[in-house]
Amino acid sequence: MKILVLNAGSSSQKACLYELPGGILPEYPLEPLWEGFLDFTHQANIAEAKVKTHTGVNQTLEIPITSRKAVTETLLQTLWQGEAQVIDQPTAIQAIGHRVVHGGEQYRDSICITPEVKAEIDRLSCFAPVHNPANLEGIEITEAVFGQAIPQVAVFDTAFHATLPAAAYTYPGQYDWLEQGIRRYGFHGTSHRYCAERAAALLNRDLTSLKLITCHLGNGASLAAVQQGISIETTMGFTPLEGLMMGSRSGSVDPGILLHLLRTNQHTPESLDTLLNKAAGMKGISGITNDLREIIAAAEQGHDRAQLALDMYIHRLRYYMGAMLAVLGGLDAIVFTAGVGENSALIRAAACEAFGFLGLKIDPEKNTHHEVDQDISTPDSQIRVLVIRTQEDWAIAKECWRLTHDRL
Ligand code: AMP
Repeated sequence: MKILVLNAGSSSQKACLYELPGGILPEYPLEPLWEGFLDFTHQANIAEAKVKTHTGVNQTLEIPITSRKAVTETLLQTLWQGEAQVIDQPTAIQAIGHRVVHGGEQYRDSICITPEVKAEIDRLSCFAPVHNPANLEGIEITEAVFGQAIPQVAVFDTAFHATLPAAAYTYPGQYDWLEQGIRRYGFHGTSHRYCAERAAALLNRDLTSLKLITCHLGNGASLAAVQQGISIETTMGFTPLEGLMMGSRSGSVDPGILLHLLRTNQHTPESLDTLLNKAAGMKGISGITNDLREIIAAAEQGHDRAQLALDMYIHRLRYYMGAMLAVLGGLDAIVFTAGVGENSALIRAAACEAFGFLGLKIDPEKNTHHEVDQDISTPDSQIRVLVIRTQEDWAIAKECWRLTHDRL
């Protein structure tokens, strides 16, 4: 069964085509047949598309931005036309899975897309004004390209955290905030769920017997406390701004600061939004970049603000890991994933050092030279430490398969 996965953002889009078997799904993620990446910010009015196939074809296209729909269509056409062709015609695709950032309180699970679901995703745009409209646009583009009859599935970033208890998801503001939907939702749920399941498989343990901290550390970053396979706490909240210090997002700051900046006319709500999402975090403190690799390199060269950004990142990571630990009341394993979590031995070592008092020990050699999906703790460590390559697209493809394979 051929399943297309679309992760449509406002400035970029990622798409993958998977071939899933008809019977039982493999435990290990399959490699996509085709992967496409679109960067709408490449040049003014020109998008860049990068396409690669499992057979080794790499193609780069520059596409004039007449409309976002036309650009996405051009990317998708490479599936059945040109050197990166992997299918004969669009009808070879049997289902499409979409990453949708905000599922609100309604969507606790993935769902087949109907006009009502689209209307709800649209309504939830008030909670995710950048992401949900782009996700919805992606759904409408694939409907236009592949026809209305093809099954489409929405997989929500918030769904895995729908199990948070009320004490964790309620903000200590006023009770009527809850009635307005102002509560903690959490994000990166597809990644946290995938990593928790993969951790159980790697540890050869039943997920329901485990207490895990999953650390999704990418440009956006969040932690989850996963008990018996269920998310019971996470660091992001009403929006992806809460929690850890991130590449260009602030993470949690005293809301009094925001009131001060508004009251003294230093910012409007719009400029504050831009600051907190795009010019804060490591970028805002270092003054250089949101990219941790460059921050580490600059700190090594003696750049004081890069060193401060790095120290703050580690401090806040430990701080929130401690919070997850307390909520779990025990710990079997820590999972590191996403750009920083998968690649930075320095961050993993610094984060784990704080938990040495629990008997956690990582093997420095494995930490530096690990393979994909490896336990990097020492045999006598009381807590396992896993580096897992997150596979959100594969997880979306599996959800799509789960909801549609018996309808075909
Ligand atoms: P993601 O959002 O998951 O794609 O993660 C992207 C981020 O991962 C980049 O902005 C980098 O900051 C970070 N990253 C990738 N490779 C490394 C590395 N070797 N060391 C430190 N950070 C890295």
